Amino acid sequence: MKKYVYFFGNGKAEGRAEMKGLLGGKGANLAEMTNISLPVPAGFTISTEVCTYYYANKRTTPKSLAGEVKAALKKVEKAMGSRFGDPKNPLLVSVRSGARASMPGMMDTILNLGLNDVVAGGLIQKTNNPRFVFDSYRRFVQMYGDVVLGLKPVHKDEIDPFEVIIEEKKRSKGVHLDTDLDANDMKELVGLFKAAIKEKTGHSFPEDPMKQLWGAVSAVFGSWNNDRAIAYRKMYDIPESWGTAVNVQSMVFGNMGEDSGTGVAFTRDAATGENLFYGEYLMNAQGEDVVAGTRTPLPITQLKEQNPKIYGQLDRIRKTLEKHYHDMMDIEFTIQQGKLYMLQCRVGKRTAFAAIKIAVDMVSERLIDDREALRRIEPDQLNQLLRPVFDLKEKESAVKSGRLLAKGLNAGPGAATGRVVFNAPDAEEWAKRGEKVILTRIETSPEDIKGMDAAEGILTARGGMTSHAALVARQMGKVCVAGCSSLEIDYTTHTMTVKGRVVKEGDWISLDGTTGEVIEGKVATKPSEVLQVLIDKTLDPKSAPVYEEYARIMSWADKYRRLKIRTNADQPDQAANAIAFGAEGIGLCRTEHMFFGEGKIGPMREMILADTEDERRRALARLLPLQREDFEGIFEAMNGRPVTIRTIDPPLHEFVPHEEPAQRQLAAQMGVSYEKVRQRVDSLHEFNPMLGFRGCRLGIIFPEITEMQSRAIFEAAANIQLKGIKVEPEVMIPLVGNVKELSHQEKIVRTVAAEVMAEKKVKFKYLVGTMIEIPRGAITADEIATVAEFFSFGTNDLTQTTLGVSRDDAGRFLIPYVEKEIYPKDPFEVLDRVGVGSLMKIAIEKGRGVRPDLKVGICGEHGGEPSSVEFCHQINQNYVSCSPFRVPIARLAAARAALADQAGASKKPAKKGRAAKRR
Ligand code: ADP
Ligand code: MG
Ligand code: MG
Repeated sequence: MKKYVYFFGNGKAEGRAEMKGLLGGKGANLAEMTNISLPVPAGFTISTEVCTYYYANKRTTPKSLAGEVKAALKKVEKAMGSRFGDPKNPLLVSVRSGARASMPGMMDTILNLGLNDVVAGGLIQKTNNPRFVFDSYRRFVQMYGDVVLGLKPVHKDEIDPFEVIIEEKKRSKGVHLDTDLDANDMKELVGLFKAAIKEKTGHSFPEDPMKQLWGAVSAVFGSWNNDRAIAYRKMYDIPESWGTAVNVQSMVFGNMGEDSGTGVAFTRDAATGENLFYGEYLMNAQGEDVVAGTRTPLPITQLKEQNPKIYGQLDRIRKTLEKHYHDMMDIEFTIQQGKLYMLQCRVGKRTAFAAIKIAVDMVSERLIDDREALRRIEPDQLNQLLRPVFDLKEKESAVKSGRLLAKGLNAGPGAATGRVVFNAPDAEEWAKRGEKVILTRIETSPEDIKGMDAAEGILTARGGMTSHAALVARQMGKVCVAGCSSLEIDYTTHTMTVKGRVVKEGDWISLDGTTGEVIEGKVATKPSEVLQVLIDKTLDPKSAPVYEEYARIMSWADKYRRLKIRTNADQPDQAANAIAFGAEGIGLCRTEHMFFGEGKIGPMREMILADTEDERRRALARLLPLQREDFEGIFEAMNGRPVTIRTIDPPLHEFVPHEEPAQRQLAAQMGVSYEKVRQRVDSLHEFNPMLGFRGCRLGIIFPEITEMQSRAIFEAAANIQLKGIKVEPEVMIPLVGNVKELSHQEKIVRTVAAEVMAEKKVKFKYLVGTMIEIPRGAITADEIATVAEFFSFGTNDLTQTTLGVSRDDAGRFLIPYVEKEIYPKDPFEVLDRVGVGSLMKIAIEKGRGVRPDLKVGICGEHGGEPSSVEFCHQINQNYVSCSPFRVPIARLAAARAALADQAGASKKPAKKGRAAKRR
């Protein structure tokens, strides 16, 4: 019979940390902590397989489960010395969700389960603490009513119905805090809650503990498919098939009085990465009180004074956990009457800044090696390091002029400016319209996740550094200021009042997530530390700690990656930036951008509108020196690195004016009639320009264009080489689908190259190659490679032509396609490995079949997208090329891809050997 239930308790567990797939993250780590002798209350985990079964079998559980649960419950009772449902000596449990990947607060957890009126009476006798018992009881009814019986707010501006009852109670008593309510109040709340549940949902609250338990277990499985869990899975690529486990664990109580409490902590600072114990706690509190933001918790350092013994024990556990897991951990603990219990641990979410600092520090501390450090940093996280920060002078002057509204906790570093909105759906809607928004909430909850994602920054009035807002913001890399208690937010009027000032929906504010400041209006930003060092060169690396860490990570990345990294650039300054970011060459220099430059568009248009080859050649002759100069600039900036230059690609109509006034002006300039210009422009009209007269087709019909461009490239190469700088031009012919197209163009290029070398009496190396961007080109790569010395995958066009989808017209259906999971991701963003990727593999295989040393790269947008870079590595390309600012991301992604096949190398050693040679 299949085993569905895994026990943990008394220092022994049936599970282990590695069993996350089966037990979920929470269950696996509860087992692990039990096994390493940390104080964990006994319990058991119902495996994720039951969740899978549940959804495959009309929401029922396997037959054998009931017996297994009963047996496990017996063991827990034995371990705890109490019995479930026994009024004299009751065992209470929590029922906790726990998926394989952590989904903070996305699914539901129920505490204090097993209470009913009789058991409550018994527990009062046993503990002599009626307030504690009724506080636990009302919490239980509240959670059960919400999670299992479905009493929750329906409208976005509505307050939780149970909170309404509590607020009413507090008001009638004239008190402010939950802790000011006494045993009797709590008892009354229990009654009021039950009545509200009955009235609004029609369900009675179940008094039988076993019934409660099964209701809760089903609800946890059911919560796997609630809206917020689904949204979260989408956002973080968690497959629906994983399912959640359910943990049933004996309760320990943080709400037994002032010697009890509950808290959450990180073994290092999750925002900055600093190696210090970071956490928050509340005395006389239970469960989510700390995270929910209803009471503002105390910093863990205060526990050191309040209870040095417990603090000392926690601090030791902190070190034990880091040693054991070799990572920064996020922990949840409870103190019951002076005794410490561990309730959860998991690898802690962190900002990009923290991820990098922790990885670098842990290498220095020898907790991990440099490879592991690279595995720990998601390439896209580097974006956060490159993002602008507030210009200090601007911010100071804003503060001086009285625009500082408030100061909260610096929960998510960075700078954000946007317009205030007060709920998540609004944030989403405004962002869709292109507005930058700051989502401002009293506190956030898991329902807000999509709005948080849409916002530039998040501001909350309540909650600490471990609040939901802070946690999620850090994970998303959002700027966040939390727990800004001086804000009075009114959801109904969509305003917030602070220091007597009223900020309305739509007003601009600025958040400094690094300092916690909230500033009225916009504040100017300036480049990040890394950019100040690398690009602006206004900062000394020695006084730039973030830069230093960035540089170490990059040096490790370069040590392990096999792919070369190039950049897409067509201006010398872009090229210089890319080199500063580590680019090793240019993978795509688009010559058409150059035609729009100063003084160039005129002759370009004359060339396009010319009637005869003669006229065209005259116009081209005027373009030649201008293009040559452009190339000289690029070659000089690249200082010996290879440069791939693409001959003209876009349809000619993109260069000519389409409005009458501009056409008249052009006619006057050229000394021809307006009619003639208009007719010429009209004649360039195409029904489907993407598949029209563009790419190599232009150079084949008008060979003099290719001639001029080749001359400009090679004369520039000669001139620069004569200056003593090495040049390696690679001339790339676009949109080739047939080898004859390429041979036609190649002949022109090589003829011109020979002419220039003879004229200038200089020799230089150069290559002629092609873009592979239409399927016929990929499929006939064996023919094409007889001419082409290199391939560069133009995956923007290759995706369009392979999928038969015009990128510019895809808006209407592509997003729904992704939502319906027809494509897992937008194929223009993340390479479609199955379709486009297959063509790439075919092209490489056929191409290298006839030309083993064929150089292969990619220059589409995908060249800077981590998963696409990984694929390029896997299919043995030589390089990827991306925009300058994505070069660091590509370097890291390439290193991680190389490390991934080192990890799998024991399985396929032959492949690794071959890959390593091709440099
Ligand atoms: P989440 O997955 O949302 O973090 P948890 O299952 O961790 O939910 O439960 C939330 C909180 O409830 C925990 O952090 C802990 O404080 C409290 N809790 C859960 N189980 C117990 C228990 N057995 N005893 C005491 N507190 C518990
Ligand atoms: Mg938890
Ligand atoms: Mg193209």
